[in-house]
Amino acid sequence: MVKAIVGANWGDEGKGKLTDMLASQSDIVVRFQGGANAGHTIINDYGRFALHTLPSGVFYPHITNVVGNGVALDIAKLVQELEEVEAQGVPAPKLIVSDRAQLLMPYHILQDVYEEERLGGRAFGSTKSGIAPFYSDKYAKTGIQLCDLFDEPRLRERLTAAVELKNVLFEHLYHRPPVSAEEMMAQLLELRERVRPYVGDTAAFLHQALDEGKTILLEGQLGSMKDPDLGIFPMTTSSHTLAGYGCVGAGVPPTAIQDVICVTKAYSSCVGSSTEPFVSEVAGPEGDELRRRGGDHGEFGATTGRPRRVGWFDAVATRYGCMVQGATQAALTCLDVLGYLDKVPVCTGYEIDGQVTRSFPTTPALLRAKPVFELLPGWKCDVRGCTDYDALPANAKAYVDFLEERIGAPITMVSTGPKREEMAYRTPKL
Ligand code: GDP
Repeated sequence: MVKAIVGANWGDEGKGKLTDMLASQSDIVVRFQGGANAGHTIINDYGRFALHTLPSGVFYPHITNVVGNGVALDIAKLVQELEEVEAQGVPAPKLIVSDRAQLLMPYHILQDVYEEERLGGRAFGSTKSGIAPFYSDKYAKTGIQLCDLFDEPRLRERLTAAVELKNVLFEHLYHRPPVSAEEMMAQLLELRERVRPYVGDTAAFLHQALDEGKTILLEGQLGSMKDPDLGIFPMTTSSHTLAGYGCVGAGVPPTAIQDVICVTKAYSSCVGSSTEPFVSEVAGPEGDELRRRGGDHGEFGATTGRPRRVGWFDAVATRYGCMVQGATQAALTCLDVLGYLDKVPVCTGYEIDGQVTRSFPTTPALLRAKPVFELLPGWKCDVRGCTDYDALPANAKAYVDFLEERIGAPITMVSTGPKREEMAYRTPKL
């Protein structure tokens, strides 16, 4: 069977920890979308890791890790990450990279950088890792698949055609030097040798695994709000962040996905540009305090180090986020962070043009939305590391009950710290 671990919000919900935890009961962990533009933070016996491309199962010798065809594959970064993980004492992981995955090329990164510069104040706040140009090229059918590396005449032809187009943009729109297909060809052939041991038909591998009754974990990057169709377009990412896309990006049958674990944090955080709608944001000293106390080292991007915008729990966005993911259960992380508050605000509605709604709107209306907060009593104590749900303070449990009722998804797990074992299991009331 297939389980998916996905984000209900803007990303950084703590999916890495959940995946690391649930990986122990799985045979295969699959990345099915996105690229090295975001990262999971995982803290385990080997140390602290920020994984960008590698699936989170790499710490378990019994797990096969799969980079699916839906991923934006930056081979150099993948290999570098493998080397880093092994340098920290992790045994060489089992890894298969889809031969249908497309390659994130140096010109994608350049295009991303140039375009953000061109946009200036209107920039999307891209991580400049080439993700948007990569996916544009995939759908424009000018992308290069990993399998193309093993057919040199075909590779040269496709690369030359792609570079021809890019150079028109680079020289005439961005006024930058052209790139050379021949130089890139040489680099690609070198990278091919480094990735060669891992290349395989991952869709066939996963179907075979399902026939054998194996458990497959799909590991999502970012969250519902960043989905280009159902998220806050255009402040989204360029690949689908929804569990449903796992069928395409990993190549598993839709009917095989039986469990969708939607991860959400006990407060909100969001990376990206300051122009992005983030209704429950808390600014000023109150926000600084939440940012400082959040996560395991404060709320700063795992890949970029950028300070994340923070806010109170947004029940409107999270209810919608769980709905579009098709959550079968929800995991609430970082409950331990809120123990300092006398009152815990929760955004339970959006006021748009004088009307209060609990439905998540489209972007133009979202940009006009103001938060409606309800205040819940704080629990004023440190619950870090608590593993017994019943032993949590009554107000902390009341907070979880309230959120569950508002988001409409059964909260089965409550995380009380960044470490794998810091988790309290809860019997849902829904
Ligand atoms: P992901 O992309 O969804 O995996 O999220 P990130 O790893 O970027 O962000 C989550 C952050 O919260 C990381 O720094 C985690 O170590 C940390 N974290 C996860 N769960 C908890 C928790 O229950 N409590 C605290 N304090 N930190 C947590």
